[in-house]
Amino acid sequence: MNYQAAKFVISAAKLRDCPPDSLSEVAFAGRSNAGKSSAINTLTRNGQLARTSKTPGRTQLINYFAVDESRYLVDLPGYGYAKVPLSVKNDWQVHLEQYLNKRDALSGLVLVTDIRHVFKDFDLMMIDWARKRQLPLHILLTKADKLKRGGVQEALGKARQALEDMPDASAQAFSSLKRHGVDILAQRLDGWLGE
Ligand code: GDP
Repeated sequence: MNYQAAKFVISAAKLRDCPPDSLSEVAFAGRSNAGKSSAINTLTRNGQLARTSKTPGRTQLINYFAVDESRYLVDLPGYGYAKVPLSVKNDWQVHLEQYLNKRDALSGLVLVTDIRHVFKDFDLMMIDWARKRQLPLHILLTKADKLKRGGVQEALGKARQALEDMPDASAQAFSSLKRHGVDILAQRLDGWLGE
């Protein structure tokens, strides 16, 4: 699939603001600062896209990018913004849960995690949720350039162990800085989006 063709469509505050639930989509989730925007940039080779999601006021929204007329990439709000008041965090959690539980078009979840922090509470919550909903899951261990080869292997091993009981879960090392792992990610997404 040509991810470079991805274009911003809409920012949705709630499930009901999302585009019609009929196309195929994959969602990206992660703690703030994990490297989610950079990963989407790297995949699409388009700095403008991630900038959309980082625009003040849009960071807490569900951002939709169309790859073509029948497929979307979905950037879920980054979790764990220290500056966000508790009431907004609670709201965020409600909307995220609704999206994850009710969105039929959702065919897979990419969980973006800093390779040096495998796994934190939010990640465990998302993995557990994917397990319960039996949703295909792909873990992107970002900033792999920050570790030596041994460290990367250790983190990968740890991640894969946590996914052992899940039939359709995978993990890979990724670096936006070095553009490492882009093809593996694209292949996994192709499988979910039907190409
Ligand atoms: P987000 O909040 O999850 O969208 O995270 P960003 O994509 O904005 O990245 C957070 C910080 O990590 C930024 O300073 C990025 O430049 C940096 N970063 C993201 N990906 C990588 C990577 O692969 N390698 C390195 N070294 N830094 C990265």
